[in-house]
Amino acid sequence: MNRKNKGTGVTRRDFVKTVGLASLAVAGAGVAGAIAAQEPPAGALKAQTVPKRKLGKTGVDVSILSLGTMFDTINNQLLLKQALKWGVTYWDTAESYGNNLSEEGIGRFFSRNPEARKEIFLVTKLQAKGSNLTERLDKCLKRLQTEYVDLFFIHSLTAIDEMTPAIKDWAAEMKKAGKFKFFGFSTHTNMEDCLLGAAKLDWIDAVMMTYNFQVMHTPKMQEAVDACAKSGVGLVAMKSQAGRPGPVKTPSEAKLKMAERFLERGFTDKQAKLKIVWENPQIASLCSQMPNLTILSANVAAARDLTKLAREEFESLRQYALETRADYCAGCGKICQEAVGGTVPVNEVMRCLMYYREYGEPEIARQTFAGLPAEMRQRLAEVDYSQAEQACPHGLAIAALMRLAVEMLA
Ligand code: SF4
Repeated sequence: MNRKNKGTGVTRRDFVKTVGLASLAVAGAGVAGAIAAQEPPAGALKAQTVPKRKLGKTGVDVSILSLGTMFDTINNQLLLKQALKWGVTYWDTAESYGNNLSEEGIGRFFSRNPEARKEIFLVTKLQAKGSNLTERLDKCLKRLQTEYVDLFFIHSLTAIDEMTPAIKDWAAEMKKAGKFKFFGFSTHTNMEDCLLGAAKLDWIDAVMMTYNFQVMHTPKMQEAVDACAKSGVGLVAMKSQAGRPGPVKTPSEAKLKMAERFLERGFTDKQAKLKIVWENPQIASLCSQMPNLTILSANVAAARDLTKLAREEFESLRQYALETRADYCAGCGKICQEAVGGTVPVNEVMRCLMYYREYGEPEIARQTFAGLPAEMRQRLAEVDYSQAEQACPHGLAIAALMRLAVEMLA
């Protein structure tokens, strides 16, 4: 089948062909930072607003750029207003974001702009761990000042067996009660296995998963994304800049060359990392943390710019990917966790470090770290990581990074 994606004109076949020719494999960088190119180059093919794509079997057309709101939106109302104005109409929040301040700020926006609610595809999430999901969902809705969310995610799935029959029944009940229209989960750990599992469950409408130029072209990720697309599970990418947990290094020659090449085309390497995700028409939307107008405007410009990445640009990203592979944690937590006897959630700690290092968000990093089980945090410095380092397919210096986490986040 030669599926052409609405709004982009890109078929999956075009995408696979281009990527295959460029032998794209892996790589990464962070969201925050200076953004030079805010607009597509003169003469570039540009959409009037952020394009939309269908979110799998939900049948809903969602903006290809989703506003990640892992921050205090109460004091960022202008950003919400501007996102709506520019056509970023898919908003993603969660119970845990900004200590509830993310949901509260969105609620305040809706109370002041009630007509905006029907324009927004609203998503919130709850960790399945913890008591009384219904009560917590009701509190989310109250903070959001809405009767329902369009899509509800169980937050941070690590294995598909967490989608229990009890969760299935609960989701059906909440749908019937009109508290959400669609149901799914988010995952940044063992994403491929979670996706493969989701494709077999007809009650999963959509999944949000870590998906970027480091992981998108591994055979297992391709198989998992294909399986979901085939079964109609809507797909939303996140962590698309492939942030790394380790110390920020001086830009290498390869990185500088890559940035220079993209700038000649009129966009930054950060924008290119979004564009490469959108090149896959199986991805309906890409969720990006956009805590300020600089990042929002740069990402909107990238979404509106319909210029295709050239083969050399895929290759350029590939080179950068290979060079930074040993610094990127691919979320395959099952591997390292088994190697340490299940005593430490290594990739969760890596994620905390990434928030600290690449996002420049020490508070989010510390909060996420504090959310890990206390007995695991206490054990971090004592564990022997040699087996995990041997098993890690990216060859990360796990022991040194765990020591760093204890120093910076404990
Ligand atoms: S530390 Fe290595 S094995 Fe563990 S999740 Fe990251 S990349 Fe995978």
